[in-house]
Amino acid sequence: MESNVRVRFAPSPTGPLHIGGVRTALYNYLFAKKNNGTFILRIEDTDQTRYVPNAEKYIIDSLNWCNIPFDEGPNKNEKFGPYKQSERKDLYKQYAAILINSSWAYYAFDTSEDLDFLRKDHEENGKTFIYNWHNRAKGKLINSLVLTADEVKAKINAGENYVIRFKSPQDEVLEMEDEIRGKITIDTNTLDDKILFKSDGMPTYHLANIVDDHLMEISHVIRGEEWLPSMPLHVLLYRAFGWNTPKFVHLPLILKPVGKGKLSKRDGDKLGFPVFPLSYTNKETDEISKGYKEEGYFADSFINMLAFLGWNPGTEQEIFSLDELVKSFDLKRVSKSGAKFNPDKTKWFNQQYMQQKNDAELTDLYLPILSEKGFFIESETKKSVSNDKITSLKTARYDELYVQKVVASIKERAIFVADFWELSSFFFEAPTTFDEKASKKNWKENTSEIMHQLIAVISKIEDFSSANTEKEIKEWITTKEIGFGQVMQPLRLSLVGALKGPHLFDIIEMIGKEESIKRIENAIKNM
Ligand code: GLU
Repeated sequence: MESNVRVRFAPSPTGPLHIGGVRTALYNYLFAKKNNGTFILRIEDTDQTRYVPNAEKYIIDSLNWCNIPFDEGPNKNEKFGPYKQSERKDLYKQYAAILINSSWAYYAFDTSEDLDFLRKDHEENGKTFIYNWHNRAKGKLINSLVLTADEVKAKINAGENYVIRFKSPQDEVLEMEDEIRGKITIDTNTLDDKILFKSDGMPTYHLANIVDDHLMEISHVIRGEEWLPSMPLHVLLYRAFGWNTPKFVHLPLILKPVGKGKLSKRDGDKLGFPVFPLSYTNKETDEISKGYKEEGYFADSFINMLAFLGWNPGTEQEIFSLDELVKSFDLKRVSKSGAKFNPDKTKWFNQQYMQQKNDAELTDLYLPILSEKGFFIESETKKSVSNDKITSLKTARYDELYVQKVVASIKERAIFVADFWELSSFFFEAPTTFDEKASKKNWKENTSEIMHQLIAVISKIEDFSSANTEKEIKEWITTKEIGFGQVMQPLRLSLVGALKGPHLFDIIEMIGKEESIKRIENAIKNM
């Protein structure tokens, strides 16, 4: 049964979603699912100047890729819709009016030039300009606290620009509660009278956010630490409206891998890792930013890694499926201090997930790469290869089962599916070059002669299974008293082109007798 837990992820569509934002969405999702609650997506697009048209789609695509879809949101179960603030515009004005009528807010007509002048003037005297209780009604500032009701009406009717400001209380120690940080107190005299409603007829983030959280019956506000400074105003707004406050949960920042401060896109560019879930093209600059998906990270590994940036289960276990995360997630185990992003650990997670994935699944991911390289894979993929491509395909045919075996033998060395080719090309084509250093060291004067003898041995082997070829070749080496290294290294060089790859006899079994002999002959010729 659905509980009263209702949480929301409320991004502003100003660009691609940073991984910090994905982590916020994830914690909201985990908390909702753990408590049989509802996970809501609300698009906070009241700041028209920063609006980026494709960002909303990017956000939704990212949540879907991460497998953390919202229960309610734009075009989905619109129980309290619309879920886009720009479509709720008219609503906010009414709520601003309520605050004016109850004297919790006031009209202010100060021009931006006037305010800039005051700011500069304060700066020159080493002070910071704050618009609040200490100056709002002293006459220098033009607002409805100093003007008469008629004067205010006249200004508004004359079309003068105005904003609506919150009248923050004087001389009060405000006590607040954060689920992670505990009790927080603030002296209200330090707060400025924030703008709630702008001259362009749009609410600011603060007003729209509170009104919507209330109307959408949000029970817990789970968001990044950067919103902690807004908490006093939000708590005061709830009080001003006479509404119950939701619980507040401010998540720790995700920090740079090296140095101090918040993880930024620049850190990713510098150290070579993505900070976005999906790749993103900035339409204005044409700049393409890398995404985890396109860089070959598995969504479940990415999510597992993100979950650990600020939370831990209190045990040694690190690999958690999404279901396990839901079961184990607890706000009590979210840390207060920032979590350092670790690109190596991120790769480590992917490697762990690689080992866990079954071979058939990985094969599906490898097949398109192989057909791109011109290998003809029989079965399903055959259908997807177009006719004009078939003429350029390599002659060797492989079936899916063969690819599955290849994948099984190399996956433990791979971090990404994109590593597969480098690790397994020799299963599909003979080496054309031979590692120079290894050849010099291992292909001695008598090696070609030994390899000729080996060809004769191999031709006679009937059971070409890995175990049997290993047995027969090793027996021959022992009787001939040649020394294993003198045969095995040149043999590996012949088949692979370098001293790498999985168990040699597995390779022999896979490529078969004829191909093995061909490769040894080719090596003899080229050394
Ligand atoms: N629109 C805000 C953002 O972009 C939402 C902050 C909040 O969750 O209250 O992150």
